[in-house]
Amino acid sequence: MPLSPARLGPELARLAPREVLISETLDEVRAALIEEWGASVTRLAPTSFDSGSATMRLTKLFQIDSLDALGQFERAERSTMGAIVDYLDITQKGNLPRLHRPIRQSTTRVMLIDAATRKNLEITQALSGGRKGSLLSVIDKTLTSAGGRLLERRISAPSTDLEEITARHEAVQFGIENSAICENLRGILRNVPDMERALSRLSLDRASPRDMAAIRAGLMGGEQIANHLKNTELPSLWNDLVTDLEGHAGLISLLEVAVVAEPPLLLRDGGFVAQGYNAELDEMRNLRDEGRGIIGIMQGDYIAETGISSLKIKHNNVLGYFIETTATHAEKMLSTPLSAQFIHRQTTANAVRFTTVDLSELETKILNSGARAIEIEKQIFATLRQAILDQFDAVMRASFALASTDLYLALAHIARSQDWVRPILSKNRDFDIIGGRHPVVEEALRSGGARFVPNDCALSPSDDGAAIQLLTGPNMAGKSTYLRQNALIVILAQLGSFVPAQSANLGLVSQVFSRVGASDDLARGRSTFMVEMVETAAILNQADDRALVILDEIGRGTATYDGLSIAWATLEYLHDVSKCRALFATHYHELTALAGQLKSARNATVAVKEFDGEIVFLHELCEGAADRSYGVQVAKLAGLPGPVIHRAEQVLQMLEKNDREGQTQTRLMDDLPLFSATPPREVQKSTALEERLRAVHPDELTARDALDLIYDLKSLLKD
Ligand code: ADP
Repeated sequence: MPLSPARLGPELARLAPREVLISETLDEVRAALIEEWGASVTRLAPTSFDSGSATMRLTKLFQIDSLDALGQFERAERSTMGAIVDYLDITQKGNLPRLHRPIRQSTTRVMLIDAATRKNLEITQALSGGRKGSLLSVIDKTLTSAGGRLLERRISAPSTDLEEITARHEAVQFGIENSAICENLRGILRNVPDMERALSRLSLDRASPRDMAAIRAGLMGGEQIANHLKNTELPSLWNDLVTDLEGHAGLISLLEVAVVAEPPLLLRDGGFVAQGYNAELDEMRNLRDEGRGIIGIMQGDYIAETGISSLKIKHNNVLGYFIETTATHAEKMLSTPLSAQFIHRQTTANAVRFTTVDLSELETKILNSGARAIEIEKQIFATLRQAILDQFDAVMRASFALASTDLYLALAHIARSQDWVRPILSKNRDFDIIGGRHPVVEEALRSGGARFVPNDCALSPSDDGAAIQLLTGPNMAGKSTYLRQNALIVILAQLGSFVPAQSANLGLVSQVFSRVGASDDLARGRSTFMVEMVETAAILNQADDRALVILDEIGRGTATYDGLSIAWATLEYLHDVSKCRALFATHYHELTALAGQLKSARNATVAVKEFDGEIVFLHELCEGAADRSYGVQVAKLAGLPGPVIHRAEQVLQMLEKNDREGQTQTRLMDDLPLFSATPPREVQKSTALEERLRAVHPDELTARDALDLIYDLKSLLKD
């Protein structure tokens, strides 16, 4: 069965493919979805997807009699695999890369996170675009690129398999409890190259001699790590890693004797094979590099034989190498017995020139030795490449084991240094976090010297219904941070990491949804409100009782009553139909009344204090609803000009008074004509002066600045 359009979106978001192969006959809805996603789409003829030919292609490729040898695959799965092989065959012109045997990855074992949620929670990318500021950037303490890639894959697809998650937590815990061993292992990992990439280049026959050195160094690093862990009691996952890291001594020693310590980048430059590995190669290199010396020795021999001490072996472009004596020795050289060996080539005014069979043979050897050496190196390269590919699966497993080692140690490192705890996961629907923190905001605050205020989140349903927390509070109080931190804690827990909290008791979550009201998507031509509604619809259509839903200011993008009604109905639906665990932040205070009517919904607010007309954010979550929204105070903090704040306070007072007295707000126009928004002159004057004074930092003023300031202030008074 092809994926439904609703599941296709999250799958594309999880896999983030660069290219997608589709059949020309694929329906328009799915095709459009894939194109909209941004991957490059390649349309293949339906015959590429023929499941009969697929079976043939796959059995041939993996050299097996029947596809059953690979495990149970459905017809649709076989036909897609067949299409991929067919496509590779065409594009790689028959030179197929080495392919892993297919492994069935069940999409039911990974947490569903759609694209909007990934974006919103800034999992791998911050809203500003880059990786900096994302969850990944904060938790990525891996030391190797393969470890980094593995973390990115895990964070993009947290597991929903309790056993798998528990094993990963145990692996991280081992790292925390054995910190000395782990620091040693991290020391080794720092020098481990990217074996996976090297192996893939080797299998595509695009490798450089350096890739062979990378395989050697990687396998050696793996053996060292395995040795370090030899006499330690290990949890099961670490045991598996050690098994995969060991047993490569044969390949390592072959590469050690055959390949120099630091091979050149290009095979055609030669010099990657170690001295002593191949006798003919050594001779060729000797001739190539020592040609002059060998000629010198030959010259000495001929001087001894002829008794002519001025005899020389010289070289020019016409004759190549030749033996030269002065004309005075011509007679001796041209008569027996020397003439039998020395073949006359040329006579000039002062000299006679000869060659010998040995000299011309040596010359050919010297001339060809460079090319022959490269040729031998190429043969050796091919043999070594084959020796590595013969152990492809084992090397691949070692490479994956190194990446996993790096990942678990990195997660242990961050858990230890940031005081994270091991979450307790279960198959029920608990959700109880004590002292939770937002890892990204916490890090940002820490670098500014500020402290993050931890908050609890008790969202365990009391029966098989929903559990909803309705959050109100002024802007900037910390609502969004709180909402997101709880979703991030779940994602971290299920990818196998410890979490930033004092304790976390979590029932497995199968889907996470997160939406923020009113975010424009102009690039795709959708208005603010439309985007909001499309995204809300996607949640309501998909969320089930295993989902965690985070809604932040839904309904903000339209007129008050429309927005309020939509938010109201959404909340009821999540409560009665989806029965999910949900956190719902809103600025509609009217909604807090709804919490009283819905059995499993509770109000919460983020505390603020008012002090001397100023607002102080405590960032502390407490029971109950916010008493007011403090919008004007927040606007003041944001630096809205004094006259505007003053005027807003007047309007607000009047609105609230009318509300209390049950008068309609239309009367407001009479009481407070909107066009009287320009405040009285005195207010404006004294405020401008005040504003200017407030902006002054006396310690930073030079004498000249201070004088300018006095002129400035004076001119403000004159206005
Ligand atoms: P809201 O959604 O209520 O407008 P945010 O969640 O965007 O507020 O938080 C505003 C700012 O307050 C954050 O950028 C952060 O600097 C600070 N903040 C939020 N939560 C906390 C907290 N728990 N502890 C300390 N500072 C916090």
